[in-house]
Amino acid sequence: RQELYRELRDKPSVTRDGVHIDLMMNAGLAVDLPQLAESGAAGIGLFRTELQFMVASTFPRAEAQEKLYRDVLDAARDKPVTFRTIDIGGDKVLPYFKGVGQEENPALGWRAVRLTLDRPGLLRTQMRALLKAAGGRELRVMLPMVTELSEIRQAREIIDKEVRHLSRFAHHLPTSLKLGAMIEVPSLMWQLEEVMGAVDFVSVGSNDLFQFVTATDRGNTQLAGRFDPISVPFLRLLRQIARTGEKTGTSVTLCGELAGRPISALALLGIGYRAISMSAAAIGPVKAMLTELTLGELTALMDETLDAPTSDRDVRAMLHEFASAHD
Ligand code: PEP
Ligand code: MG
Repeated sequence: RQELYRELRDKPSVTRDGVHIDLMMNAGLAVDLPQLAESGAAGIGLFRTELQFMVASTFPRAEAQEKLYRDVLDAARDKPVTFRTIDIGGDKVLPYFKGVGQEENPALGWRAVRLTLDRPGLLRTQMRALLKAAGGRELRVMLPMVTELSEIRQAREIIDKEVRHLSRFAHHLPTSLKLGAMIEVPSLMWQLEEVMGAVDFVSVGSNDLFQFVTATDRGNTQLAGRFDPISVPFLRLLRQIARTGEKTGTSVTLCGELAGRPISALALLGIGYRAISMSAAAIGPVKAMLTELTLGELTALMDETLDAPTSDRDVRAMLHEFASAHD
């Protein structure tokens, strides 16, 4: 298998019926970077910047942030990298950050973009580091846990201000700056077109989205496996995001754990996803699956299943059957 994956690495990521799929990797620390070349990923679809903060014993200084971001962009060369602004709070606690007190529901609490908008100094420092590191190159930045449009507007104001500040001091700026939002809070589902109109791209955080849609703590082992994301209702929801992206001409990726398992990746391709981001180790198995896939057939099957009036169909079993019939 490992040999097959290595062989596949330099082959195009295309289905049997000629549809190109972008397989990207998730990363968060400098140690992850060699895997970009080893896995043959098309880029870094999610760079979790909070990891640098989580492994440190105090807030990483601006210079340390800038160095990491520059190293990441250097390693990626001409492959795209999407940096997510710090997603702390919730399950990602910083022991040295006293701002977050005891919360009854940390997952629903003061976290991610909520926290960085309330402590704009954190976002300003990070943005300045990103803008400097990406001088002369493209910069892609993504906001976690967006709940309403105004958060995108506020973040953009802070970012624009940093851009103006740096250009006043004649810094070498990025050639282009793309701002994206993660879709992981259900409220965005009823303002999808507006959100897509306000950003350059979106990425579905299926881990949190599933947690919030099913009211199921993603870290609670007692509930692990109780509800299946490969189910009609959740796939209908994910399909709606992909379709709205198509309608509005917005690039949509998905970067949760679902992307990294061949059977769930199969479901994602079948409902319209053309770019997914996963752990580096998952790229080989997912690529092996998709190069054997006739996407047209799968799409028809998925649409038929999701458009049927009953929502209790066993989609997982159906996908396994589909996969083995085409082996
Ligand atoms: C997600 O929520 O799906 C996601 C990609 O982000 P994280 O797992 O870091 O919350
Ligand atoms: Mg998340």
